[in-house]
This record gives sequence, C-alpha cells and structure tokens, in this order.
Amino acid sequence: MSAVKLAGIRKSFGDNEIVKGVDLEIHTGEFLVMVGPSGCGKTTLLRLIAGLEQCDAGEISFDGQRVNEVPPRDRDVGMVFQSYALYPHLTVRENLAFGLMLRKLPPAEITTRVNEAAALLELSALLDRKPKALSGGQRQRVAMGRVIVRRPKLFLFDEPLSNLDTSLRVAMRGELARLHRRLGVTMLYVTHDQVEAMTLASRVAVFNEGVLQQLGPPLELYHRPANRFVATFLGSPSMNILPARRDGALLKGEGFTLPAPAEAAGELLVGLRPQELRIGAEGPFSGEIEAVERLGFDGFAFLKTAAGPLVARFEGLVEVGQTVRVQPLGDATHLFTPDGTKALRHPPAERKA
Ligand code: ATP
Repeated sequence: MSAVKLAGIRKSFGDNEIVKGVDLEIHTGEFLVMVGPSGCGKTTLLRLIAGLEQCDAGEISFDGQRVNEVPPRDRDVGMVFQSYALYPHLTVRENLAFGLMLRKLPPAEITTRVNEAAALLELSALLDRKPKALSGGQRQRVAMGRVIVRRPKLFLFDEPLSNLDTSLRVAMRGELARLHRRLGVTMLYVTHDQVEAMTLASRVAVFNEGVLQQLGPPLELYHRPANRFVATFLGSPSMNILPARRDGALLKGEGFTLPAPAEAAGELLVGLRPQELRIGAEGPFSGEIEAVERLGFDGFAFLKTAAGPLVARFEGLVEVGQTVRVQPLGDATHLFTPDGTKALRHPPAERKA
C-alpha cells in the first residue's frame, strides 16, 4: 500500500489553476523529491498533503484511508519549511521539547525523545545554547529536530536547504540522506534544485505548470526523459535541442547531418547531452566558441552554430573566438516530437555505465 496516494488532484487560486490533475503514489519508506521551476505548484501540493489547503477535486489518501476531511493536526505529518522559526529565548533543548509539552507528553518521554533526536542530529553538545549562538546549519537541524521528536509517519520538506550557503547545503544534503536511512520513514521533499533531486531521491517527480511530467529513479529520468521539458530540466549544462528532419539515411539540420536512427521520421527535435559531445578537429557540427566554462583541464564550451547554440565538452586548450568542430561520442541521439511533448527515442542503454 502506498504511504500517500494523490488521485486527480486539482487546485485553483481564483481563476488560476495551479495544480492540474495530479496522480502520484508515494511508497512507504521512500524519499520522493518533487522538482520543477518556481511557481509550478510544488509547495501547493505539499500544503494540500499536509492539509493546510483544501483541494478542489481529487482524493488524497494515507495508507489507503481518505484524508481530505482530516484536519492538519490529525494527519500525523511533520513539515520542515525553508524559513524556520525557532524560539529565540528558549534553549535548543526547550525548542525541541516545546511541541511535545504542548501535547502534554509525560516529562520522561519528552526527555527521551529530545535526547534521541539531538543524538541523531549531532546536537547533543548544543542543547543548552540559544539559537543566536548557533550556525545556520545547526539552526536548520534544530528545526528538523522539532519535527523528528513528534515522530510523524510522513515528513514533508519544503526547500529546507535553500537559505544555507553552498558548503552547508552539501553537508546538510548528506545528513538528510543519512537521516532518511536511519529513520526509515517516508519523506517527500520539494526543491527547484536539480542537484538535490538527483542526489537525495529514490524517485524524482518532475513538475511543470501544475502537471506531473515524469516520475522515476533519478538516472532513469536522466537517460530516458519523457519529453523535452524533463530532458532540459535535469542535467547541467542542459541537453542541446536542435531541429532536424529525416532525409533517407540521414538526420539533417541547419549545417549538420547525423545518421538517422530507425525511430526518426519527418520533422523532429534532436537532443544531445553536452557530456556526450567532444570538441576537436572533426565532427558533424561546426561553430564558434562564445564562452568557456573551465572546470580544470576540461570543461564546457558554449558555441554558436548554424543550427543554434550548442554546448560541448572540451579537454585541454580552447579559446573564445576559435572555430571548432564537435563530435558525438558514439550514438548519443535522443529524439523528440517537434513540439517537444514526447520522446521518440533514447540512445541504447548499454552505453550507460
Ligand atoms: P517556488 O519554488 O517558487 O516556491 P512552487 O512550485 O512551490 O514555487 P507554489 O508555491 O505552489 O509554487 O505556487 C504556485 C502558484 O500559485 C504561484 O503562482 C503562486 O503565486 C500561487 N499561489 C500559491 N498560494 C497562493 C494563494 N494562497 N493565493 C493565491 N495564489 C497562490
């Protein structure tokens, strides 16, 4: 049975439909990450699951039980937000205990839970400090601890790391993954950061404009994107998309030809990941380097070609202004319908290490 099941969920604010018929099942114990651009309705979906908003249509169930009419406090859900408010005049220990005291748990039980959560989050040495004497990451861990002590069966995270600086984000990402393994609970996590999605998720749900675009394990979405949106949203730099048409045994675009895969017919969009393209003396693409993103010895070059912008990997010396050729590494061709709504083909799986 799924921990959470969404069936035909719709939600509008005024005339604006924000969630447009979402079906989604979240398995018990999984770490599901909902990802998508700003404004695509991720937070709204989370708030609907928590019961902070009511849906206009559809059914939300937890463990097979409809919860649409269940008030938030009875849904057994713990939510961690981007901006967390700790009580500044209370110590870490008191901040952690506060919600449990309101719920009138026995003092011994409160102490046990606070100590357990503090140990899990490595806050044991900080229990007597006030929030102002903590770093941003430590404060975020206290905010998480306040949810953990309640022992909810479902954790909802709304961009919990987006206020932290880069190194702290990386560290907290690791801690979250560890926390999930140790607690074994169901976690639903919202972010617009694709690195967080790819790193944390057992499955990723990609949303755009209130519609679920694709759901699956991170690498499956990366290698087999269902449409142009998913293909260009996941992966950095973004997948190159070039218009082309089939002509006999060839795919022809503006200034390039590639071998036509069997699935190609008529007008198409060709998708090529920058990681699968190499700059050199040969290849079907030719263009001028407009910008270089050097990572060290290698990096990515941003080219202007007859077919449009193209990003490709380079090794060694390249310079802005240089005219170069670009070669795909073997069969790297994704194909999409001209409107981008459907993938027609992905490169063979055996190339994917
Ligand atoms: P972000 O990553 O920016 O938080 P999101 O995908 O989480 O984006 P939502 O917060 O779900 O997006 O908002 C989706 C849209 O719904 C936005 O255009 C927002 O302005 C609108 N919206 C959200 N809540 C309300 C509300 N209570 N009343 C009116 N409009 C709202």
